[in-house]
Amino acid sequence: MSGKESPETATPFAALADELAGLEGEGLRRRRRVLDSPQQPRVTVEGREYVAFCSNDYLGLANHPALVAAAREGAELHGVGSGASHLILGHSRAHHDLEEALAQFVGLPRALTFSTGYMANLGAVTALVGREDAVFADRLNHASLNDACLLARADFRRYPHNDTAALERLLAASRARHKLIVVDAVFSMDGDVAPLAELAALAERFDAWLYIDDAHGFGVLGPQGRGTLAQAGISSPRIVYMATLGKAAGVAGAFVAAAPEVIETLVQRARTYVYTTALPPLLAHTLLASLALIRAEEWRREQLRSHIAALKSGLAQSRWKLLPSDTAIQPLVIGANDAAMAVAKALESAGLLVPAIRPPTVPAGTARLRISLSAAHTGEDVARLVGALNALQ
Ligand code: PMP
Repeated sequence: MSGKESPETATPFAALADELAGLEGEGLRRRRRVLDSPQQPRVTVEGREYVAFCSNDYLGLANHPALVAAAREGAELHGVGSGASHLILGHSRAHHDLEEALAQFVGLPRALTFSTGYMANLGAVTALVGREDAVFADRLNHASLNDACLLARADFRRYPHNDTAALERLLAASRARHKLIVVDAVFSMDGDVAPLAELAALAERFDAWLYIDDAHGFGVLGPQGRGTLAQAGISSPRIVYMATLGKAAGVAGAFVAAAPEVIETLVQRARTYVYTTALPPLLAHTLLASLALIRAEEWRREQLRSHIAALKSGLAQSRWKLLPSDTAIQPLVIGANDAAMAVAKALESAGLLVPAIRPPTVPAGTARLRISLSAAHTGEDVARLVGALNALQ
């Protein structure tokens, strides 16, 4: 910094202030809203009530009375803080039981819990591959997977969305020691499902490992909500399966499930596992209760499917074109950032909250409304959204 700046801009962080002003100018500055109610379809935000289509609480468990009670009970049993990392003395009986229940639920030999999905991806990918290896990633993968691949320092190859022919060419050309295919099972901003059977076949053919992030499928897809692999009927010893526990499961955290040698490698080497305080055990206790609800209450998934069908048929004849998604994530691509913001604003005036997702979260020119549906919505909620969108024609 020279002495040329005016006194107002000559703060040590003036360059950051300029960048923020640039974001504002491009319509890309994000703002947080303050949620005054629990996460649920009917929310209170800064004194106003809305019906919200913004959360990943796909089964409506985030404010379920049985889980609130389990959290209380967990606090009575375990206290509120884990107090240490897993490898010191933070690994409680509740974590241990949860890991066993999760492994059994997804049909894989062993599971390991992490504090967040972001941390699970960073920790697992960097523990599995390094400089001599290669990762092959779908272009629309979640940011946490992209960061994980960069941090791993492996040869990082991205292929066009769902283009298995392009992936095949990249795998065929690779001489890396380990090859890791990394993919979202359900793409978080598009709602479509990866071609998992083809990916598993390619992994087999090219002696690669397949890392699947099922953040948006776990609890929602497959029999009893066992996830996208169960839905597709795929199993392979090459699969490393990851899912988050703050979305359909309604709580927080994540897990990775795979062969015992994979999980033991993560215990030894995943830095976001080793060097962090364990998730409060009361949350692990709550997650055991959540898992029981996920498994038992098929009606939640049926309700969700019926909302998805109602939204699609309600908008079928309108100018609004939903992306081809059969999941709870129903994106309505608008294009320009300000146009997407304008539609979100019009819905907001009608008492409906739907997030406008802009770059860099999605590619430039594809700003969209990300409508996410929950089993806790009512048919009337969905009908209101359809009505409000159609009124904006
Ligand atoms: N993976 C995917 C595909 C996600 O959508 C998200 C969260 N949006 C994450 C990982 C990160 O999970 P968490 O929110 O638990 O950190």
